[in-house]
Amino acid sequence: MRAEDAPLIRLEDYRPSDWLIDTVDLDIALDPARTKVRALLQLRPNPAGRAGAPLTLDGDELTLDLVMLDDVALEPAAYAVSPQGLTIHAPPRRAFSLRIETTLDPGANTKLMGLYRSSGVYCTQCEADGFRRITYFLDRPDVMSVYTVRLEARKAEAPVLLSNGNLVAAAELPGGERHFAVWHDPHPKPAYLFALVGGRLDHVRQDYVTGDGRKVELAVYVEPGKAGRAGWALDSLVRCMRWDERVFGRNYDLDVFNVVAVSDFNMGAMENKGLNIFNDKYVLADPLTASDGDYASIEAIIAHEYFHNWTGNRITCRDWFQLCLKEGLTVYRDQEFSADERSRPVKRIADVRTLRSTQFAEDAGPLAHPVRPRAYKEINNFYTPTVYEKGAEVIRMLKVLIGAEAFSRGMDLYFERCDGTAATIEEFLDCFVEASGQDLADFARWYEQAGTPTVVASGRYDADAASYTLQLAQSTPATPGQAEKRPVVIPVALGLVGRSGDLPLTTLSPAMKADGVVVLDQASLSLTFTEVTEPPTPSLLRGFSAPVRLELDLGDGDLLRLFSADSDPYNRWQALQTVATRALVRAGKGDRSALDATAADLADALSGFLGGPTLPDSAFAAQVLRLPAPADVAREIGRDVDPELVHGVHRQLTAAIGGALAAQLMQLRTGLSERGPYSPAAAPAGRRALRNEALGLIALGAPAQGARLALAQFDEADNLTDRLAALAAMTLIPGPERETLIGRFGDLYAGEPLVLDKWLMAQALIPEEGTLARVKALMGHPAFSLGNPNRVLGLIGGFAANLTQFNRPDGEGYGFVADIVIALDRTNPQVASRLLGSFKSWRMLEAGRRAKAETALRMVKATPNLSRDVADIAARSLG
Ligand SMILES: [Zn+2]
Repeated sequence: MRAEDAPLIRLEDYRPSDWLIDTVDLDIALDPARTKVRALLQLRPNPAGRAGAPLTLDGDELTLDLVMLDDVALEPAAYAVSPQGLTIHAPPRRAFSLRIETTLDPGANTKLMGLYRSSGVYCTQCEADGFRRITYFLDRPDVMSVYTVRLEARKAEAPVLLSNGNLVAAAELPGGERHFAVWHDPHPKPAYLFALVGGRLDHVRQDYVTGDGRKVELAVYVEPGKAGRAGWALDSLVRCMRWDERVFGRNYDLDVFNVVAVSDFNMGAMENKGLNIFNDKYVLADPLTASDGDYASIEAIIAHEYFHNWTGNRITCRDWFQLCLKEGLTVYRDQEFSADERSRPVKRIADVRTLRSTQFAEDAGPLAHPVRPRAYKEINNFYTPTVYEKGAEVIRMLKVLIGAEAFSRGMDLYFERCDGTAATIEEFLDCFVEASGQDLADFARWYEQAGTPTVVASGRYDADAASYTLQLAQSTPATPGQAEKRPVVIPVALGLVGRSGDLPLTTLSPAMKADGVVVLDQASLSLTFTEVTEPPTPSLLRGFSAPVRLELDLGDGDLLRLFSADSDPYNRWQALQTVATRALVRAGKGDRSALDATAADLADALSGFLGGPTLPDSAFAAQVLRLPAPADVAREIGRDVDPELVHGVHRQLTAAIGGALAAQLMQLRTGLSERGPYSPAAAPAGRRALRNEALGLIALGAPAQGARLALAQFDEADNLTDRLAALAAMTLIPGPERETLIGRFGDLYAGEPLVLDKWLMAQALIPEEGTLARVKALMGHPAFSLGNPNRVLGLIGGFAANLTQFNRPDGEGYGFVADIVIALDRTNPQVASRLLGSFKSWRMLEAGRRAKAETALRMVKATPNLSRDVADIAARSLG
């Protein structure tokens, strides 16, 4: 089948499986080139399915060695088999067993789906449909089975043998060369949660007792010699387990919980029941090889995968259209965990930055889709910011709309009612309807309608009546396949800020809910606040209460007032971002006349903020100092974007602010110097973040001083965070000193691939014409490999995120990335299609670049024998 002819799978075509599989017994003899898989499945007709239907099992590149029904070999006429499936034409209309044997070549599996080897370690990745690369199966999430897995291997090659559940037996085989382990998972699960690991691994471990008294052995497995870097992941695991007990009342439910880090992994990590498998970049950490950002990511992703044990595993998805049921909810849960562990406002700001740069960008381009898509050709292409990050925003809004208590009751009801099932968004929402007594039918539109709504707000103060009238209106732009949009339910958290803080909110409007939230559920809304004794400044969308674009009729003066006076820290940050964004958008469209004046205003505001009587929280101050990225400005401009111009005005504004504040920032840096040894804790990490934001501004505003500071910081640093910040600052300052530092950094970390990923990316992001040649040369670096997703996404992914160089006016950037997508597609379609997703904003470019990007996309699309993954992204990008 040609990839373009892949069938479109639709939500409305869902029907229950005709057959169920109650138990799965797997016997797997691991071998690098010939792994033998013996599966024994106990099947029965599904009462909800069609009686007497044939049995069609999924396969993917499989070879069948044997099939027996109730231990009798099947006549050839009784079944049809291909690498893609096994059909038994007339199975008995009762329970029966099926014995299936297949042979796999894990060493040749470069797709990293199913069973493969990574640096000599056997591991699996089965979500979304990798299990069908191991054996023929009903590979769909609503078929849930109890697994018993026997693993056998040469002891020297794989002394560690792990699978899901609890270890029930392990021994050497006669002769002593081989050994085996048997794992049993009592919790029924879909095949995508199956996992095994076999290899030489070191580990760290810890005992844990759950809130309900279960003793659990926790362990983190890593490559030999790296156990010293596994402690933070284990510590994070313990903290998130306690948190889930305390906040969601969820206890762990097996006797062991294992985390394994592997170096070749397509995703971030995978929540296989009791055996989470991680990309090693989200496990390994020590001060000299992991940045503060890495420590925070590890904490968040360890928590995310652990939290899936309830939201994803105990309650799974009926079908892949419900992916957001587990992902959006679990992202929300990990965001809340991180907010509790660190600073809530800073975490919120960081999450909003990510949402805007990834999801808003996706929503504005040809790949836009609803949080719950209604059709797909390749589900691997729907592990997107929309499903994950916007999915989490929908949960957050739900909580705001019905209140924390009703939300908590609804979650409890969901855990109770849906435990052990494969559920849908409707079943999830029903729990909150019951818990809150509210009608959520309109709210559910967030799951169905793509695109980022815009809310336009304007206000009028009437001094005589002491009243303030606020007008809100919403609209959502058309997206592919959805020309017409209806209003969505938007919770707008707000305050009216007066001379000395928030004014009381008095209104008769039914749109006003408790806790300062107005619900905008129509196209427009007007509400009047009374007893407003002074002209207020409205502070809207506090805490970013909905994933929308907000257009305000406030002037810069009002926004600067909010920056200094708003009680909501998120909106203080947002006020300054809005001032900068507006100026940059105007300048990025060609009108630079006000840019210098805005720079002076922003510098004044920042100077007052940093020099006030009490020093602000460092992590928050670091966020305040960081302007919107050039890509954010480009997205706000939205059409006919000239990336070079946007980059230029961004640099002009940043340099002007950096120049005006250079002396103050240098003083600030001195005051923030760390004296003790490195700690990844939030407070010292916040101080480093502020010092390093200051360094970046100085590097642009006062390059000579910036270079001096950066080089000194690199030499003195006792941690990767400060070294990376020094490198990043120097990449802004062309010249021989930069090249020397790049060379020193590369030598220093020659044996550390995860650090070299950052080094490759820092170079790929240099906004200069020579970068393309530099990236091509770096592909020849001994550390680089097209076979490793982290290397590819570091170097090539970094380049594709380089606004000016990926979007070179001569189109060479597009051609380069397109060529790599085509080459990579032959070995790893998932990573290739993710890279091709870098073209998602091509339509907003000015005509010349747009034409060149289109040419590159058409070249990809016309390539013969594309994978379904890449063919789908190419077609939708051009569609
Ligand atoms: Zn997840």
